[in-house]
Amino acid sequence: MNYTSTRGTVAVNETYALLHGLAEDGGLYVPSLFPTNCLTYNDVKDKNYQEVAAVVLSKLFPCFSEAHLKEMINSAYSDANFSTRDIAPLHSLLEKVSVLELFHGRTQAFKDMALSLFPYLLVAAKEAEGEKKEVLILTATSGDTGKAALEGFKDVPGTHIQVFYPTDGVSPMQAEQMQKQEGDNVNVTAIHGNFDDAQQFLKRLFVDKDTAEEVAAKGVMFSSANSINIGRLAPQVVYYVNAYAELVAQGAIHEDEAFNVVVPTGNFGNILAAYYAKKMGIPIGKLICASNQNNVLTDFFESGTYDMNRPFYTTISPSMDILESSNFERFLYYISGEDSERTAGWMKDLKSTGKLTVNEEEFNRVKANFAGAYVDDEETKAIIEQVYNSYGYVMDPHTAVAMGAYMKELEKHPEDGARHTIIASTAHPFKFPTAICEALDIKVGDTPYESLDNISAVTGVAFPKQLEALKSKPLRFTKAIDKENMKQEILDFVDTFSK
Ligand SMILES: *Cc1c(COP(=O)(O)O)cnc(C)c1O
Repeated sequence: MNYTSTRGTVAVNETYALLHGLAEDGGLYVPSLFPTNCLTYNDVKDKNYQEVAAVVLSKLFPCFSEAHLKEMINSAYSDANFSTRDIAPLHSLLEKVSVLELFHGRTQAFKDMALSLFPYLLVAAKEAEGEKKEVLILTATSGDTGKAALEGFKDVPGTHIQVFYPTDGVSPMQAEQMQKQEGDNVNVTAIHGNFDDAQQFLKRLFVDKDTAEEVAAKGVMFSSANSINIGRLAPQVVYYVNAYAELVAQGAIHEDEAFNVVVPTGNFGNILAAYYAKKMGIPIGKLICASNQNNVLTDFFESGTYDMNRPFYTTISPSMDILESSNFERFLYYISGEDSERTAGWMKDLKSTGKLTVNEEEFNRVKANFAGAYVDDEETKAIIEQVYNSYGYVMDPHTAVAMGAYMKELEKHPEDGARHTIIASTAHPFKFPTAICEALDIKVGDTPYESLDNISAVTGVAFPKQLEALKSKPLRFTKAIDKENMKQEILDFVDTFSK
């Protein structure tokens, strides 16, 4: 199977797309020929997570042999990397509502679901492409991608990783996880700016030929671990397929009965993965895109216009504080009927005016699959409290945003109540101690660890072992730079390992 750019028609191998991340024309790689309706219940019945992953990924990366895929999958989704054998268990909250827990990996966020496997895919792609250069992974993070990518690439031979995170945009726990990162091939730098600034800079750098040549002369090439890389997206399709198999096995749905999915959304990668699962044949009904006060997507799903000309808010669900949602481009490509010219036109509009509008026919396609709703910080805390008081379950703020969006959509469409719904839970609540303390009226401690001890004592939720171990580790990366200096920071890092 070949991959093409959302903005062009040139096809490349799967391994080229994996290795390079972003297409040369600035577009995102998508399958040239989407494997539509290739999955049925029989394909995934009675299979464990790893086996489901092999089935799904063989459709998206047929270039890898089955044995090779299985080997990579088993290394990624191992007992060492995940705290539960189920990998992504479903927690039954209400008769018709299950929480899909995606936070049992090494860094307590759903980014681990893809970033545990991605380094294996990248190294395999590098070998297949005969690429001898050292790969420098450049990553912008709104909080969780950075840590998950660092853990994934830590000490992987032939690779190095540079992470940028916004000084004010991440929770203290998220910052500490990155500042205390171990490994000899890693660099972490805070920037004065927000996630959009960091992501935009990197997207420009990826298509900057001069810089590419400059580092190539030193035996180095850039790649991306952000969800612009198809190697991030594909592994995320797996947990929706696995959840479907699980719902059928539990008797919660029949094998051809539709279920809805609610996804707390930032860069649109997670929800796009659910859409891919649907296109591949999984009976997903409505996809509900949940946002915080940065509700550019909610407005799009209501009006057909995506308008970034609006204030940027720092919220208690920081991993969703994004206005320029990268994977939205892939979504637009499908909405246009896989028309790369149309997509390129929209991206031009977005660049020049900060907004884009789809036509009526396209908007009808959007509405046939998607709905959007948003929840502000006060509502988010109220939901955390309500869910805890009613069901004894502690949700992180991002998951609570999804729960809130579900409740708002249900008010508008009470008939949805008859359908089983999956709430994607994207982080462990312990990554956001202050928000949880405030929501549950628990004393905020002097340090994040003290707050977590207090939360643990009140709710009985156990400390994830990686967060507990973090407490005694030394700080390694505390530098903060202006965003204008990102390029120099990268070049300086290159000089530490290049020839
Ligand atoms: C990254 C992240 C999101 C947003 O996911 P996207 O794929 O970027 O839409 C939501 N919640 C948490 C906790 C995250 O880390």
